[in-house]
Amino acid sequence: MLRPFQFKEEAGWSHADQLLLCLDTGSWRTVHPVVDNDKCSYCGFCSLYCPVQCMANKGDHFEPNLTYCKGCGICARECPRKAIAMEKEGDS
Ligand code: SF4
Ligand code: SF4
Repeated sequence: MLRPFQFKEEAGWSHADQLLLCLDTGSWRTVHPVVDNDKCSYCGFCSLYCPVQCMANKGDHFEPNLTYCKGCGICARECPRKAIAMEKEGDS
């Protein structure tokens, strides 16, 4: 299914304001990120580095929008607090 969405709504640190036509990248996934909110410092790096800009700002932490998250693991690699673990689909 094709779904357009705006970067601005998904990531407060993005300056992009053009509509992006995004495929259902969530269907590509074999693993998904799980954020440990106790470790998260709300720095926003995961959102900045996410190639599909699907780390949603929840006010005091970030959560992946699994409709779009393709499970690449870049957010987990870039997180300076090691607050993101990649878990297999179906494990949580
Ligand atoms: S990069 Fe890590 S510490 Fe920073 S907001 Fe994301 S999960 Fe939290
Ligand atoms: S695993 Fe990849 S696509 Fe999913 S939230 Fe992290 S950086 Fe974005």
